[in-house]
Amino acid sequence: SSSKHDKDKGVNVQVILRCRPLSDDEMRVNTPVVISCNENRREVSAVQNIANKQIDRTFGFDKVFGPTSQQKDLFDQAVCPIVNEVLEGYNCTIFAYGQTGTGKTYTMEGGSRKTKNGEFPIDAGVIPRAVRQIFDILESQCAEYSMKVTFLELYNEEITDLLAPEECTKFIDDKSKKPIALMEDGKGGVFVRGLEEEIVTTATEIYKILEKGSAKRRTAETLLNKQSSRSHSIFSITIHIKECTPEGEEMIKCGKLNLVDLAGSENISRSGAREGRAREAGEINKSLLTLGRVINALVEHSGHIPYRDSKLTRLLRDSLGGKTKTCIIATISPSIHCLEETLSTLDYAHRAK
Ligand code: ADP
Ligand code: MG
Repeated sequence: SSSKHDKDKGVNVQVILRCRPLSDDEMRVNTPVVISCNENRREVSAVQNIANKQIDRTFGFDKVFGPTSQQKDLFDQAVCPIVNEVLEGYNCTIFAYGQTGTGKTYTMEGGSRKTKNGEFPIDAGVIPRAVRQIFDILESQCAEYSMKVTFLELYNEEITDLLAPEECTKFIDDKSKKPIALMEDGKGGVFVRGLEEEIVTTATEIYKILEKGSAKRRTAETLLNKQSSRSHSIFSITIHIKECTPEGEEMIKCGKLNLVDLAGSENISRSGAREGRAREAGEINKSLLTLGRVINALVEHSGHIPYRDSKLTRLLRDSLGGKTKTCIIATISPSIHCLEETLSTLDYAHRAK
């Protein structure tokens, strides 16, 4: 599919597959493994042999990370080049896509391991590693820059600000407090009215913001009875870098990195059109369905890109298509019990290539 990655046409969508290891509980009950990853060949195979049901399918991706891969491997090989593009002034988006429980949040944010004396945790995910790299590079260049971050959640097409002061976000639709709304800026772009933007000057500040926002997301998860598997979170970092041309002219380079932890993909496959419940699926996760269509339209170079059909794609419009880079990290479980969802994820991710 190399023509689909044609840089001249400005479309650049990379699809990465990551398979998590079996959990301790799954190991204890000897859960059969039906997935094998070949990192060198960049292929994933799903094999199951039961008398009346034989499955043997292989899918290719831009990169494959098997169950023993470490957070650092995925970052260095797949994410690091994208972060460098952001510092060159590109808008880039990294999505984690997959069934609930397959490692989207682990991949984006990291595990729960804490370290003493400020050491960097080995299970830190894409977001803290990207932040560290951005500051390392800017500081080594002695660049003059400014940086701001936003962190929001999209649930049922409603936006919640994960950085807003407590009293403003407890009730998503308490319009009297702080109306969060997606607005057109009149120039084809959109902005979120009322969204907190935090100016940051050190990596540590961003880690704290991330921690605060994801704690809020977890609280909402319990309040909403685990429905957060149906919500998307978007962590965005915008960087302005001041540069001087050889002629001594000042120039501002602006890049943006969106890190998106998508709703569990089971929300579209289970309640989706297959069961004739397209309307409900549309309402539960219009954004997840539309994202698939937008990415397909981008890689197929089709004329009409349906950005306007969901809040997620409207929000990310300036970072999807055109001169931008998109990376989808599809996450799967190796367990036999997840096979059906795993095949849906492999199909979705493979189609995006
Ligand atoms: P999701 O966000 O997709 O619902 P999580 O990120 O919460 O899934 O992962 C589910 C569980 O599996 C968590 O306990 C997480 O720590 C663990 N996990 C996921 N991916 C990995 C991995 N690659 N290595 C080790 N543990 C993982
Ligand atoms: Mg999660």
